[in-house]
Amino acid sequence: LTRYEMEFREIERLGEGGFGVVYKVQREKDKLLFAVKQINITGKDEERMLREVKALESLDHSGIVRYFDAWKEKDSYGKGSFLYIQLELCQAKTLKHWLDDTNRNKNRPSNEIVEKIEQITSALAYIHGKKITHRDLKPENIFLSAEQGNPVKVGDFGLAKIMERDSESHTAEAGTRAYFAPEQSTTHYTNKVDIYALGVIVYEMFNFIPPGSTRKYLINDAKECKFPEKMKLEHAQWCKAVRQMLSEDPDKRPTARALLGKVKLWEKLSTDIDEPRPSCC
Ligand code: ATP
Ligand code: MG
Ligand code: MG
Repeated sequence: LTRYEMEFREIERLGEGGFGVVYKVQREKDKLLFAVKQINITGKDEERMLREVKALESLDHSGIVRYFDAWKEKDSYGKGSFLYIQLELCQAKTLKHWLDDTNRNKNRPSNEIVEKIEQITSALAYIHGKKITHRDLKPENIFLSAEQGNPVKVGDFGLAKIMERDSESHTAEAGTRAYFAPEQSTTHYTNKVDIYALGVIVYEMFNFIPPGSTRKYLINDAKECKFPEKMKLEHAQWCKAVRQMLSEDPDKRPTARALLGKVKLWEKLSTDIDEPRPSCC
């Protein structure tokens, strides 16, 4: 028996993504539930991958998915190698579901939007502070907990770099492309790629975008400050922030810390009446 088979009981297959298969499991010794991500790393730089995933275990923040343990095993024929990552089990609901649902019923309360943006930004500020770049920030990788206030949990941070050679096909996926900063296809980029992705997400949150191909054009419009009238009127400060986050020049994008500071300030201002309306771009 492998370590995985000895320690855990598989309950169900949660799904499959660019990096492997994810199972919902129960740990035999204490009956606690986890998610385990299983990734085929046969023939790759196995030791480096394991080392780098293990470094993620030190991260502890309520807004990020906890990485509990990681280890490597041979398959039962001893041919392939698998990397196992034991994760905090999250609710099946992601920001993608929330965006789709609220697109359908055209009901997305501003306070819930801002609350989520603040939590995602806070999680980014934390990982960036630990010198980690997410590199694959998108609504599918942001889990929503059922708890009061819908706290978000950002998952899959750091993995894109570790699985680099595997992410080629994954990055080509059409839907995912929208969140990639222009410089991300080069070798020179920084954690500002996450800010670009956040800019796209924030834009999506403040608008009802029908699923499909038009989104790319909408994002281009946002870069040129052509926001929908409603967003300009009601969320001018966010128009400005989105435009900055989508800057072609990564240095012109705000840091997660700076953005977090602004969000907190705006929240405070919004409770004061007679606040002058900030202008857009
Ligand atoms: P990508 O690999 O491009 O990020 P993805 O996020 O859909 O795509 P995975 O991250 O491999 O793929 O996840 C596969 C499935 O497992 C998804 O449905 C995801 O929601 C689910 N999942 C991943 N991690 C967890 C977790 N910690 N708790 C609960 N479900 C999870
Ligand atoms: Mg993934
Ligand atoms: Mg994922």
